[in-house]
Amino acid sequence: MALTAEEQTYIEGLYDDLIKSAKRLKTEEDIAFVRKAFELANEAHSKMRRKSGEPYIIHPIAVAKIVASEIGLGRKAIASALLHDVVEDTDYTVADIERMFGPKIASIVEGLTKISTILDQDASKQIENFRKMLMTMSEDIRVIMIKLADRLHNMRTLDSMPEYKQVKIASETSNVYAPLAERLGLYAIKTELEDLSLKFTNPIAYNEITKKINETQINRDKYIDDFILPLRKIMDDNGIECTIKGRLKSVYSIWRKMQKQNIPFEEVYDLFAIRIIFDHPDDITDDKAREECYRIMSLITNVYEYHPGRIRDWVKKPKPNGYEALHITVMGPQGRWVEIQIRSRKMDDIAEKGIASHWKYKTGEKSNNPGLNSMIENMKETLSNTDGSFDFLDDFKLDIFTKEIHIFTPKGEIIDIPKGSTVIDFAYNIHTDVGNHAIAAKVNHKMAPLSQTLYSGDQVEILTSRKQNPKIEWLNFAMSAHAKSQIKKALKADKSADIDKGRRMYEKKQKELNLNLDSKDIRHLREKLDISTDDEFFYQLGSGQLKENDITELMTMLEKEKNNKEGFLTKFWKLGFGKSSSPKNEKISHKNTFVINDAEKRFSLATCCNPIPGDEVVGYITPTNTVIVHKKDCPELKGLATTHGEKIVTIEWESYKGQSYEVQINIEGIDHLGLVYNITKLISQEANVNSNMLHFETNGEIFTGKIRLFVQNKYNLDNLIHQMLEIEGVIKVSRGE
Ligand code: MN
Repeated sequence: MALTAEEQTYIEGLYDDLIKSAKRLKTEEDIAFVRKAFELANEAHSKMRRKSGEPYIIHPIAVAKIVASEIGLGRKAIASALLHDVVEDTDYTVADIERMFGPKIASIVEGLTKISTILDQDASKQIENFRKMLMTMSEDIRVIMIKLADRLHNMRTLDSMPEYKQVKIASETSNVYAPLAERLGLYAIKTELEDLSLKFTNPIAYNEITKKINETQINRDKYIDDFILPLRKIMDDNGIECTIKGRLKSVYSIWRKMQKQNIPFEEVYDLFAIRIIFDHPDDITDDKAREECYRIMSLITNVYEYHPGRIRDWVKKPKPNGYEALHITVMGPQGRWVEIQIRSRKMDDIAEKGIASHWKYKTGEKSNNPGLNSMIENMKETLSNTDGSFDFLDDFKLDIFTKEIHIFTPKGEIIDIPKGSTVIDFAYNIHTDVGNHAIAAKVNHKMAPLSQTLYSGDQVEILTSRKQNPKIEWLNFAMSAHAKSQIKKALKADKSADIDKGRRMYEKKQKELNLNLDSKDIRHLREKLDISTDDEFFYQLGSGQLKENDITELMTMLEKEKNNKEGFLTKFWKLGFGKSSSPKNEKISHKNTFVINDAEKRFSLATCCNPIPGDEVVGYITPTNTVIVHKKDCPELKGLATTHGEKIVTIEWESYKGQSYEVQINIEGIDHLGLVYNITKLISQEANVNSNMLHFETNGEIFTGKIRLFVQNKYNLDNLIHQMLEIEGVIKVSRGE
């Protein structure tokens, strides 16, 4: 359902609100960049609604707002947050995003899409795996931060989900997302996620605790005021500018305490803590801040007795996630123990917003925090070059596990293998048989050779073939002892003696027949015999499976063909070239709209998407009244449609009068015996298709090909692609530009 005018206005209001809350958007350019992301997202999601019935775009705007104001990130993260569901839920691809917003945004959006895919597959079963994955797959920490914001907004609006989903999502939240937020030092988000999670997983406990918190609020507030009063005075007397406030513990942490100590609500004595946050210049040194914490502590002990066993000094030794504060417990009025947390403004920012807050404070000195030291080092170094810009996050990698990497199977299961492992190691890790017959892999859905090094979070599918056998070269890139020993074992069934014998027989035969065949000819020879490697050819010869007489005839024939330019291998190449013959006119469709007719010159085909007859197309009218024909799903056109909607017209193909259109197709596959031959043969046999450029490349076992073709329409092309996919070894065929 399309958006109503009221809804559009409402959405613009939310967007303005986002921009106002985004303190890190400073320049016009920043704002324009975010606006562009908003417009794309708004357009892409315009027909979608959330479960609650609201326009979908409300969700990405809300996520972006959390990213901007609650985590404090900048324009790239805000734009990525706005776009975070575009690739997953609409027709736009990562490539579209890259073209419009650059590679960084594209990779963040891709990371976010990937997390969702894996989550949908298996997360409820494998929460631990998912958590590991989040920690390791994200080269860019912003992916995790935006994912947390996404989850937070989904949790805030979980009411509109069906109940069985609420419980699943809520338990994932407390098991996976809240610990993750804690690890990144995002305490405010962690706390809210935990509370919301409890609300849906254990509503009775949640409601009861909330009710009791409310009932006791008046008394508690009075107690806190009384408690703070003398503290306020002593801080003022000593010229310490600070905020002092009472902080109620979260519902979740109260509940945890009741569970752990098996006590009722009334016996939880530390329902709240007092927080003292002192002000200071942005460039305060860590030493100075620490000193100030201790000074405040000693002032407090002039007012209240402290508990010597309950001092938590996270200033001297910060938590691994960067948390710094000095916690002490003192005896308050009515004989109650009260916890006081002392922090600098900077420490507080970091505690609330996590490491992202470090950007504000350029002290130039080393932090004592070992967990964060290298991270902060990195940041500071970049900061000194970029004048406080947030670009340092681009190179910021979260590499927490160093010895092991986590690899995902296509089903989303996790397998831990040593760092530095390659595809072949992973294959042998699955099963010896898988290793022995591995030919290549798909790593994150892209073709990859057996030698490729794997990284944590990669999703790997091993491609096997019965014809494949372990190769001696594999030992060069197999890293694990297991894979190495298996390869050696398989190679031991050694054929080398027979191979040598066969090679000698072949050479003798050459001399006998007085032939001049080179290594390429051997290949042609064995292809005719359907033998996949030279060694196999010699082996079959040497071991007597292949008779000498069988090859004598073939060798003589090959020599003849070599001397004859019309030999069997050159024939199809010739056929493949040349101009289109004259095909007959064909009616494709006709509608009462603009009609693309090649006789009229005022149509021209867009070069960005290269439409051909049969593609769904629309026209864009230029100021000179030419109609540019774009494919309906062309991203460039979508850009135009958002800014110049009135210039877009509906058009249909009428006929193409024998015209041929150039397109490119890209082929990926395994370098299989006879693959190139079969592809070229297919093209030459297709009457309506002509090729003017063929380019094939192999990298290890991986084969890629680019072919430029003249086709008459989409049906010819689709038909060709379909047939091409039937060829053994071809894995993927796509239309390129
Ligand atoms: Mn989302």
